[in-house]
Parts: sequence; C-alpha cells; structure tokens
Amino acid sequence: MFPKPYKTITSCQIHEVMTKTYERFRTDTQGKNADYIPYLANVDPSLFGISVCLLDGTVLSVGDHDFRFGIESVSKVHTAVLAMQHSGPDTVMRRIGANATGLPFDSIMAILLEKERPSTPLVNAGAIAACSLVKPIGDAEGKWQAIRQNIAALSGEEDGSAIPLIEELYASESATNFNNRSIAWLLKDFGRIYDDPEVSLDLYTRQCSLGITADQLAIAAATIANDGKNPKTGVQVFDAELAPKVTSLATTVGFYERTGDWLYDAGIPAKSGVGGGVMGIMPGLFGICAFAPPLDPSGNSVKAQMAIKAIMKELDVNVFASSHLTMVDC
Ligand code: GLU
Repeated sequence: MFPKPYKTITSCQIHEVMTKTYERFRTDTQGKNADYIPYLANVDPSLFGISVCLLDGTVLSVGDHDFRFGIESVSKVHTAVLAMQHSGPDTVMRRIGANATGLPFDSIMAILLEKERPSTPLVNAGAIAACSLVKPIGDAEGKWQAIRQNIAALSGEEDGSAIPLIEELYASESATNFNNRSIAWLLKDFGRIYDDPEVSLDLYTRQCSLGITADQLAIAAATIANDGKNPKTGVQVFDAELAPKVTSLATTVGFYERTGDWLYDAGIPAKSGVGGGVMGIMPGLFGICAFAPPLDPSGNSVKAQMAIKAIMKELDVNVFASSHLTMVDC
C-alpha cells in the first residue's frame, strides 16, 4: 500500500467556515423563487441556512437551519433509497435506470428519447416510477406511510409526523402539476410505471410537499455518507451496499442538465430541489445542506450552490481528490 496524504480537521473549524460563508453570501439577492408552483413564489427570498452533520451525529448549523421549507426534488433521493430497499438495486436499474438525461427535471423529451426506461429516479419521470415501485403495491395509504416513515428515519426522526406535509404547498402543486400528469400517463403508455399512475403521481406530489429543515437534510445526507446508518439515531436505515449506488445517482444527475458544471466546481455529489434546498453527500465524512429559495434558470438554489462550493473549497475537501481528511477533536 502507498501512504496517502492526509489532513486533519475539527468540527470547530468546520463551523467557523460555515459562519464565514453564511456572512459572505447572506445579503446576495441573485436568482428568483420558483413560481410555476404558486406557493413557492411567496416564500421569503431572504431565508438562508446551512447545516452540516458529521458522522458522529454532531449537527453544526447557521442561519435559518430550522426553517421548514418544501423538500421538493431532494425527496427523490430518499425515495430512490426506499425503492432500492424494497425491490433491490438490480430491479431499480432494470425498471428505472441510473443514467443522466442531460435535460431539465420535468422533460418529456427525455422519456421519448429513452423509451425503455425512465433513466434515473432523480428526474420527475423516474421519481414517479420510483413511487410506483414502493410497497405495498396497490395500497396508496400504506405506500404513503412507507415513504414518509423512510424520509423521517433518514432525517433522524422516529416518526413520520416530524416531517409534516405543507398542506398549502400540496394543494398548490396538485392544482398545477399538468406536466407531471402527462409524464405519469406517458410512462403508463410505455409500460414503465409499476402501480396506478394517478396514485404514483399523487405520492410523488405529496412527498415533494413535505416540510423539511436544513438540519434534517444534512442528517439524511450524513446517513448516506455513513453507509445507511443514521449518525444521530444509530439506526441502520437502509442496507450499506445501497449507499454508493444512491450517491452515484446524485453524482450523475443531482443538478439535472447542470450536474457536470456543479461537480467540476463543487466536488461533492448533491441533489437540489425547487424549494431552495441542496443536500450534499461527502462519503465517510459528512452530510451538508444549504437552503435559500431564489433559483437559477435550471431550478437550483443560487445561494445554496455558492455556499456549499465555498465551504468545500475552504475546507479543501473534494470527492475526486486523492487526499484523506480525518476528523479530530476541537
Ligand atoms: N415538485 C416539483 C416538480 O415536480 C419538483 C421539482 C424540483 O424540485 O426539481 O416540478
């Protein structure tokens, strides 16, 4: 074995970097709230929070880290885990896939181009298909409880009620999700949805409307970074062998058509949502979440991206670099 270079870091240093980054970007006003879902247009655009969860369960936070915002597409990661846990990673690969589409999150063109599979559980088509794979098949309420309980367990909560549904957001999305409805029925036409299309669409819409905090997303990311064992509760939420597969999904398509640009600069697999959350997974080290509602034209939070990139750079951590980082006490 060749010795690898290593660096040490303390939680105090990480918190210092987070605080500095928060102050640096706090007053930035770039980007615009999502408005195709009316509820999201009215969320305070100045909200900004950052949270990091270390693998010993320590949660470090700054700003609006406990504000409850719409989880939106970040939930695609959680339910991809559940679909793999229920059906196995090979079935998810065969029935949904793991490829980047290179197209926007809600692309119908992507389904037409790759008819035999929806491509990945991290775009709308694949996420609706993932909801259809969740068990028990044919039992809408049982499936919803499974999805919600899984999101809670990943977030370090015992009970699904710790991740409440934002009723107003759910109503707003349900009243305007015509494109997603087309996706669900197109999947049905191609034989690529594995339960009732309307139920699968509703489950997807509901999971996107759950209210989550930056702390909870950082804990979920740390659970994936920790091979499925939640660092806060000690619960093994999913099989360890699934962790690299989930992280690979976020790596290839976490920022939709902008994923390559993100990875090149940020060096961390991450998933964004139009609610303004970005959840980053640093295997073996930590989970991170930044939240700020204004988005870039691809639907990714401007400030959350800037914050996570700055923190990664300042900590000199990069998933593609050869050097090891070791946590030591403050
Ligand atoms: N619920 C949103 C939609 O389906 C999620 C999109 C996103 O966060 O990227 O359009």
